[in-house]
Amino acid sequence: MGKRVESPSSINTFKQCPRKYYYQYIAKLPTLPNIHQVRGNIAHSALENFYELDAGTLTPENYPQQFRSRIQSLFVQTWGKYTPQLHKLGLSRDQEKFYFEETLLMLLNWTNQAIDEMTLVLAKNGYSVQEAFQKITPLREQHFRSDHYAVRGFVDAIRQIDDEVHIIDYKTNSSFEFKDELKLQLAIYSLLYFEKNGKIPSKVGIFFLRHKLKLMPVDNGLLELAKKEIELVHTHTSASEDPEHYPRCPSGLCKWSTGQCDFYEVCKPFEKSMLPPANSSG
Ligand code: SF4
Repeated sequence: MGKRVESPSSINTFKQCPRKYYYQYIAKLPTLPNIHQVRGNIAHSALENFYELDAGTLTPENYPQQFRSRIQSLFVQTWGKYTPQLHKLGLSRDQEKFYFEETLLMLLNWTNQAIDEMTLVLAKNGYSVQEAFQKITPLREQHFRSDHYAVRGFVDAIRQIDDEVHIIDYKTNSSFEFKDELKLQLAIYSLLYFEKNGKIPSKVGIFFLRHKLKLMPVDNGLLELAKKEIELVHTHTSASEDPEHYPRCPSGLCKWSTGQCDFYEVCKPFEKSMLPPANSSG
């Protein structure tokens, strides 16, 4: 059996629950959209398109206002385009209004920090406003694929800051922590960047849209972590496609107060008949 091309998300799914990985990536059972994914896609799209702004319209006086108007209009436009997907979620009007406002606030928070960055670049280097805008504009939505590691990923933003390269992912998460799954995602991006460019990025991080950018340095240890975790998943998944070899890992991620795992109904993780047999010798 050949190696399947994995992604940070498929690898993290396997680590969370191998049976979930089986349902999603081998049996390819349908997944259900949820508001967090949909609003995440909307926010990503607005951030990606933000930098298409016509820099010729910027002046040293108007760029803060231009930035804010730009992100607001992109957000409203993109939210509108996602109306069919939003309707399918069956949210009440109040819920939809809540998520609309909350996501807009996150984007305005991000924009305030982009304004601060622009102000700093302008003050420090004596650039024109157009040059400063070019300086803060990252490479966006870069697709990396490694045949050697059989893994791929989409990087939201790559920044060149003086001699440093920073790889950045945007997240709408409420937490402001580098949990293990985020660290692994960033480790995989670092490995993919290193393989393509022959150079380790200086830093990787998450722009937590409710908070701020959080970066960590990249070293060989991080690249080794990515290699080890990718290999563990390949070793397992290229050996068998039998669901019995993908154990259930019941946890709080099976069902919670406002939702459940996409495969909860087919998996039935807490039914007695689905639990491993008790040890009769005990
Ligand atoms: S319901 Fe729980 S045990 Fe079953 S696939 Fe989902 S996460 Fe895994």
